[in-house]
Amino acid sequence: MSANLPSFRYHPDPVASGSIRESADTCACCERSTGWIYTATFYTAQEVNGQFCPWCIADGSAAERFEGEFADSYGLDGVSEETLEHVTRRTPGFRTWQDPHWLVHCNDAAAFIGEVGYTELAAHPDALDQLRTDLRLGGWHDASQLENLLTHLGQGASAMLFRCTVCGTHLAYADAS
Ligand SMILES: [Zn+2]
Ligand SMILES: [Zn+2]
Repeated sequence: MSANLPSFRYHPDPVASGSIRESADTCACCERSTGWIYTATFYTAQEVNGQFCPWCIADGSAAERFEGEFADSYGLDGVSEETLEHVTRRTPGFRTWQDPHWLVHCNDAAAFIGEVGYTELAAHPDALDQLRTDLRLGGWHDASQLENLLTHLGQGASAMLFRCTVCGTHLAYADAS
């Protein structure tokens, strides 16, 4: 954890996940060089010349100034308007092959941990079980094919790992290239 960065409830370690990296680049919003720059998604109709510093993400100024969002609201069902706004406009997003989306647990958005392969996912059996169930419901009826997909996560397809901000349960969804 990088001590001097703003804290993000729904993306607690964006340096570890790769969404924020050390950089001398200036922020497209505040035009300062803070030593850190955002690297992932931002959806806006406006032209943005560069990326943002973590502080302009955390205080909402980047999203406000450029009328954009860091994450799609897809999947954020059953959370409050405030949480929706917090996740989409004041939280660093992350890169995926498919459109990134947030998972929900205990009526709150979950915290994004990072993209993981099978070994890291298996360290959280709750997330592995939940992902297996979701994939089965999603049409993966052949058990051996499903286990093959799961054990090969990290090679082509990977899992996006989250942790519930309320109860601590781990959750994941699969992202395929
Ligand atoms: Zn800034
Ligand atoms: Zn929960």
